[in-house]
Amino acid sequence: MRPLLIAGNWKMHFGRAEGLALVDALLAEAASVPAERELLVLPPFTLLAPLAERLRGTRLRLGAQDLHWEAKGAYTGGVSGPMLRDAGCDYVLVGHSERRLHFGDRGEALARKLRAALNSGLRPIYCLGESLAEREEGRTGQVLAGQFDEGLAGLEAAAMRGVTLAYEPVWAIGTGRTATPETAQQAHAGLRARLAAAFGETIARETRILYGGSVKAENAAALLQGPDLDGALVGGASLSAEAFLGIARAPRGAA
Ligand code: PEP
Repeated sequence: MRPLLIAGNWKMHFGRAEGLALVDALLAEAASVPAERELLVLPPFTLLAPLAERLRGTRLRLGAQDLHWEAKGAYTGGVSGPMLRDAGCDYVLVGHSERRLHFGDRGEALARKLRAALNSGLRPIYCLGESLAEREEGRTGQVLAGQFDEGLAGLEAAAMRGVTLAYEPVWAIGTGRTATPETAQQAHAGLRARLAAAFGETIARETRILYGGSVKAENAAALLQGPDLDGALVGGASLSAEAFLGIARAPRGAA
């Protein structure tokens, strides 16, 4: 069975005091989350080092929201995979829809970022999802397949073991509009079938596929009923310890 991963994407929020207060609040209650579930926070770059210090030896994992595809060089403003490892990260997001929309992340750059993460010993969480227009035009499957290939084509099956997928319909991110459990499960099943075709049944069975898009404590249990949903990538609700823990504690298979 794939252990659930509950990940909090803090986006561009919080200074040092607020970030430390939030992880302290999470750690204080972490024992109430089933032990086999993995908990992850993805703060802004500036908080990685102080948070890594605080999280050492705890069950809360640390990750970043993006990385550069090169390990070092003349890339002003860039932060590389080896730097993130050095700062204490285990995970990194690649291809979040806000990166695709506001920073032009796409195509070859995403494939290179994904490989750079793996080469640095990081576990990339590769995000994909369709826009509202693409869904309404009936192109969801085609868009997901295109994004899947864009980031993952040519990767060796052994390398794929380090990758997590996150299905995040763009129309559900930060909008309060969540995919129904059925819609989410259908997209996840499609991605798992694509994993099987590209990398084989074992990788398809082992790879975690998170759902993201306005997940809250109130809808988490219903979403996590889907047999192909292996956790949540949480934006807005991850900024509150109570809301994030409510999701992390959501019973599996009970709506
Ligand atoms: C996200 O940032 O990945 C996300 C899903 O945001 P929200 O939960 O706010 O929709």
